[in-house]
Amino acid sequence: MAVAPNLEDYATFSAGFSWEKERTGLTGLPNGQGLNIGFEAIDRHANGPLRDQTALRWVKKDHSTMDCSYQDMKELTNRFANVLTALGLQKGDRVFSFLGRVPELYVSALGTLKKVAVFCPLFNVFGPEPVFQRLSRGDALVLVTTQDQFEKKIRQLLDRLPQLRYILLTDAAAHENDQVRSLPRLMEEASPEFNIPPADAEDPALLHFTSGTTGLPKGALHVHKAVLVHYVTGKYVLDFHPGDIYWCTADPGWVTGTTYGIIAPLVNGVTNIVDEKEFDATRWYSILQDQKVNIWYTAPTGIRRLMRMNIKPREEYHLEHLRLMLSVGEPLHAEAVIWGEKTFGMPFLDNWWQTETGGIMIANYRSMPVRPGSMGKPLPGVEAAVAQVTDDSFQLLTEPGKDGHLVLKRGWPSMFRTYLHDEERYQKCFRGDWYLTGDLAKKDADGYYWFIGRADDIIKTSGHMVGPFEVESALMEHPAVAEAAVIGKPDALIGELVKAFVVLKPDYTPDDALKMDITAHARRKLGPAVAPKEIAFIDTLPKTRSGKILRRLLKARELGLPEGDLSTLEQS
Ligand code: AMP
Repeated sequence: MAVAPNLEDYATFSAGFSWEKERTGLTGLPNGQGLNIGFEAIDRHANGPLRDQTALRWVKKDHSTMDCSYQDMKELTNRFANVLTALGLQKGDRVFSFLGRVPELYVSALGTLKKVAVFCPLFNVFGPEPVFQRLSRGDALVLVTTQDQFEKKIRQLLDRLPQLRYILLTDAAAHENDQVRSLPRLMEEASPEFNIPPADAEDPALLHFTSGTTGLPKGALHVHKAVLVHYVTGKYVLDFHPGDIYWCTADPGWVTGTTYGIIAPLVNGVTNIVDEKEFDATRWYSILQDQKVNIWYTAPTGIRRLMRMNIKPREEYHLEHLRLMLSVGEPLHAEAVIWGEKTFGMPFLDNWWQTETGGIMIANYRSMPVRPGSMGKPLPGVEAAVAQVTDDSFQLLTEPGKDGHLVLKRGWPSMFRTYLHDEERYQKCFRGDWYLTGDLAKKDADGYYWFIGRADDIIKTSGHMVGPFEVESALMEHPAVAEAAVIGKPDALIGELVKAFVVLKPDYTPDDALKMDITAHARRKLGPAVAPKEIAFIDTLPKTRSGKILRRLLKARELGLPEGDLSTLEQS
């Protein structure tokens, strides 16, 4: 059945938009005591008509499912908040999770938020050192994890983590000592009733370490007011409608998996599917089919993996419930958008944001024509622009089509409030009223934004500034190319030469003839100045856990330089 989009016309809607008006879609704590993410996500629904609706459904590794209604979640998160109270936690104290996508992760996230403590999720696959870095830099007081992870990765760190007061084990039947405790036991002893303390919308809520594609991870701190952006983007970008079934494939160890894999769907009162397993093409299609998913939010890395397979989803699976497919995290090449059209009968809608912005800032909307390869237009209520930025100057570029730094006018509700322990670095992200995203982009005459690249990844070759994305997009259009990453390699003559690393589709042989063919294709598309001068075939591209290509690592390896922080590297 056709469902009208919540945002029917971008221009009209934007003209009438105000955050104050949208705020009325949230409830606020009883007795006007402020705004709390946990309350908006769970309690307000549990206290109303959605009480018995499924809030979360976990698809277990063996495909069996477990459901929790909004009321179930209310009781569980209340218990968890009471556990924290019993342990003496105060407002603002930090609770970390180090778990797979199991119910305890979701309960501890929302329970921590209700306690008005700060939640920080860690990727389950981190080794001891990245865990140590984040626990110590984030001043973790409580860590929720499993016995296995504790034994393998945490116990050895305890001497170096004097501030870590409690470790709550999700699968231990008994407490080991005062510090290492059984979460099931504590939960059992805790009351299912909890009153959220009076809270301010500016109270800290979430700590996210950025995925660090270009440097060391930084801890971006967000406040409860961010829930307004979670709500608005859920409603107008993800286009949530009552009764929707939604699946976000991201892990909560990455900001997308928390914001859009936990908070936004629940704030909007839909059913949120969680898959406990990692990527598997047939499993993904089965989940879309069996769970009757309406809205699917994923990332280019997953889409490219699906594109490589010889599976015809619409012929082999029943996907008639699917209404909307979205992508985030990396540039979505035009190829992938078009593949979506051909394969599913609808494009993937790309949207852009980053850890620091706390929510989607630029998006393609259901009602707006898609321009494949574009990130879309700014979220109503968000002012974006392209600017020329140097160390001592800042100028907005008003003429369309000009390359420059993507900047956002400060003041949107989910803007990060600091980098933990690094206020100086935070201040450096702003020029007056404008936040510098660190990305380069351009805006066309109709207001669509086009991603060029991370400022740090830009290649300067023979006087041209080349964004890796345009070169990678052109390479991806060659029938043999599954994935590509492009770097600049120092060259005495032309500054930097463009070098491409190419992953081939399964049926192609990596030989010189193919290399020449891909080079010729790239030269035709891009011209000789921009086309790669060197192409190397590679089995897989180094990526972060959240699926972003680590171009800086390819470059470091190419040049024999130190590899830098690899804590977020996905080990394949
Ligand atoms: P993170 O904070 O780790 O999620 O990374 C944010 C960065 O990912 C952005 O600054 C962009 O460089 C990149 N990114 C996210 N979404 C997109 C997108 N739709 N298109 C291009 N790049 C994106």
